[in-house]
Amino acid sequence: MPTDERLTGSRREPLGPVSRVPMREQEPAVRTSNFAEVPFGYSDEEARIEANRCLGCRKAPCVAACPVAVPIPTFISQISDGAFAAAARTIRQANSLPAICGRVCPQEDQCEKECLRGRRGEALAIGHLERFAADWERRGGRIEAPARKPETGRRIAVAGSGPAGLTAASELAKEGCSVVVFEALHELGGVLTYGIPEFRLPKAIVRQEIADLEALGVKFVRNFVVGRTETVDRLLGPDGFEALFIGTGAGLPAFLGIPGESAIGVYSANEYLTRSNLMKAYQAGASTPILCGRRVVTVGGGNVAMDAARTALRLGAEVSTIVYRRGEAEMPARAEEVRHAREEGVVFRTLANPVAVIEDGEGFVRGLTCLQMELGEPDASGRRSPKPVPGSEFEVDCDIVVVAIGNRPNPLISSTTPDIRVSAKGTILANPADGRTSRPRVYAGGDIVTGAATVIRAMGAGKAAARSILEDLAGTR
Ligand SMILES: Cc1cc2nc3c(=O)[nH]c(=O)nc-3n(C[C@H](O)[C@H](O)[C@H](O)COP(=O)(O)OP(=O)(O)OC[C@H]3O[C@@H](n4cnc5c(N)ncnc54)[C@H](O)[C@@H]3O)c2cc1C
Repeated sequence: MPTDERLTGSRREPLGPVSRVPMREQEPAVRTSNFAEVPFGYSDEEARIEANRCLGCRKAPCVAACPVAVPIPTFISQISDGAFAAAARTIRQANSLPAICGRVCPQEDQCEKECLRGRRGEALAIGHLERFAADWERRGGRIEAPARKPETGRRIAVAGSGPAGLTAASELAKEGCSVVVFEALHELGGVLTYGIPEFRLPKAIVRQEIADLEALGVKFVRNFVVGRTETVDRLLGPDGFEALFIGTGAGLPAFLGIPGESAIGVYSANEYLTRSNLMKAYQAGASTPILCGRRVVTVGGGNVAMDAARTALRLGAEVSTIVYRRGEAEMPARAEEVRHAREEGVVFRTLANPVAVIEDGEGFVRGLTCLQMELGEPDASGRRSPKPVPGSEFEVDCDIVVVAIGNRPNPLISSTTPDIRVSAKGTILANPADGRTSRPRVYAGGDIVTGAATVIRAMGAGKAAARSILEDLAGTR
């Protein structure tokens, strides 16, 4: 590999390879027949070589680009020195879910985007190194429970056990609060458990992170739907909790609204992935069924669409096709997800917009009618907007259609708690900097506020809201 020299400063020291150390992965032909994780992670030696590529910038733009401000240069230099336990401790000070973030964060748009190493050659593989440190710690059973301050007697409720709720719970428990997390489902973890597939995020890792929170004293109540099992008013009533953090996500799927969409074989990505991930429908003998299909079309261009298309292959589809109305450059999915999908043989039909699901006469899906699109001027999202090409209808053969075009928040809590203000899209109106809502003692963060976003943004919001809760409670007794 070619070597580079220091990009800033007057000394010109050789800095090792311009390219990052690649992470070894399962071969595409092998991995499409199993649900095991695709990348294997770095060895100790690979991690040290990669860490040595860090420039150790004094201003560290990577830290400013991280929504939870992980002290990146510090943990990288600890890895470079072989001080792996110290590196893991450093990350945990800022990020309570490092093994998860190292796997699913869009680093290419955050810390790695700002990495000065990337100005010539490839940015440092910050995500891979975060994952390495967290896995190293977990493998050896060496995770040190973070210190918990003495009991404050404060009682805080958290609705939802996704990354926003877990982070808020962790921050509050560390400060000595008594925290109870109420989760609607029978399993904890939110999208980390029911959405993101095993081959991208092994569920054992999510369970371990939750066990760490239990060790910190956080209590979890499953099968408890806030707004139905108990209302917000009752949770915050006399003898109840002093504050509530709402991190209930955006789990209500959007549909295309086209003819034929109620045919047998049309799934929302939410349902499709939940059946596979949460209910393990892919395992022999599972009690939850899933239609596998020979030809599966997934509509959408985000991470959710890639996860569904790749799941379809693992469930035995002969052809798995992504249908997306813009071009590949406009796809919101992570570059790594698109690369993995392509390597695995997912077919991309971009600039195609579905207009009808075709039924076979017995109510089952037989195909999808689409219109060819072309790109016009940028729209409000900054991406070039798709326009139909007149008379360009064509059909795609398929027996399953998975709709992955976005999610909205479930209105249950807002409709049963009228003094919590919501936007026209149904997201809870909360100050992004501190999570405060229109109702005193109620805070919110994550997808329920931003709409479908990212794990790390949800974590950042959980952390900010925990700070406000502590501030607001201070001096109220
Ligand atoms: C398939 C898929 C793939 C994704 N891939 C990525 C990725 O690679 N990288 C990335 O950064 N982001 C990804 N995302 C987005 C990311 O997962 C979300 O932005 C993040 O999980 C939001 O966290 P949250 O805590 O706000 O909500 P969620 O993770 O949605 O958790 C909300 C929790 O609240 C529970 N709940 C809902 N209503 C109630 C109620 N009334 N009472 C009690 N509990 C309730 C839900 O059951 C759920 O467990 C993906 C999303 C999906 C769906």
